[in-house]
Amino acid sequence: MKMRKILIDDRLREIAKKYAKKLFVSRDDEFQRPLAILTKLHDDIPAKEIKYRQYVDKIITEYEPILSATPDKMRTLIREFDALNVDVNRKIPNKKIKFYEAIVSAMRYDALRDKESIPYLKNSGIRVCVYCNSQYALTVENIYYRYTKKRKIRKQVRERKALLELDHYYPKSVYPFLCTSFFNLYPVCSSCNRSKSDSEEIFFELYTENTVQNLNTFNFRIDDESLVRYKTCKRCSVLKFGFEAINSRDNDLKEGHNKIFCIEGIYKTQQDLAVEIIIKSDIYTPAYKKSLLTSFGSAICDESMLNRLILGNYSKEEDIHKRPLAKFTQDLAIQLGLI
Ligand SMILES: [Zn+2]
Repeated sequence: MKMRKILIDDRLREIAKKYAKKLFVSRDDEFQRPLAILTKLHDDIPAKEIKYRQYVDKIITEYEPILSATPDKMRTLIREFDALNVDVNRKIPNKKIKFYEAIVSAMRYDALRDKESIPYLKNSGIRVCVYCNSQYALTVENIYYRYTKKRKIRKQVRERKALLELDHYYPKSVYPFLCTSFFNLYPVCSSCNRSKSDSEEIFFELYTENTVQNLNTFNFRIDDESLVRYKTCKRCSVLKFGFEAINSRDNDLKEGHNKIFCIEGIYKTQQDLAVEIIIKSDIYTPAYKKSLLTSFGSAICDESMLNRLILGNYSKEEDIHKRPLAKFTQDLAIQLGLI
């Protein structure tokens, strides 16, 4: 489930191209680069295993287009790689690990997570889990660095680092060649990542190139009856929320994803936030907001910034991936006429 799809515009396409060109370029000489490791992997595969050699060779020759592949291009690549009929779960001769593990390791997904993922994905504007929108897509992990000198381990250093938690839309155990592709990496929170890996559901894609499609898929809403009850008794525990598909054909999708990520369960805990939005909608009437804007002057604060200050969160729908609970906050604020 995505709270909102992201349109691949020229800016995002450029970011992906730059990412493909510059990935690992800034690393020092000791760093083993994907193309070098892939070439060695190719040469280590016995000549009779021709399909496996072709698979690796295709990654080498199309390395940059694979890294910057848009969803349509990824689908084309999947058809082409599938046509090679390779069993990626097989342990290829001369290797103790499965073929897909060898590919993921050669493409340096580990190193990408460690260093490059944060700056590049920061550019894409996503900081919050794309599945639940309730938590930052960050995790803290131990990273071990081995400093070597003339092939002897000099020392091992442990560092705790804040990393982006990433989910592969196309799993790396099935499509290892897409393990470092920009548009295949979805920032997610740890609990959604765990929930998704246990599930076999089909997911909507986060990114789209379809400019006419409605990018919003779901909406939150305060149940009308519970709102009336709250206004009478002022107890926040009576508030109930609906989580609805905007288009009825997405109802099954909504049900499935609600089950996997427990969306209603997560948002049921946000009654206090809803109360604040209800009170703000009483205080910040259109006339009061207008007077605030007049007294600030547009140089200090425009309408969108005033809405953001009032909400304590982003007020434009294209910004929902920037801060936790932005989608919930915006939907309720719109329902109550606050923004
Ligand atoms: Zn999440």
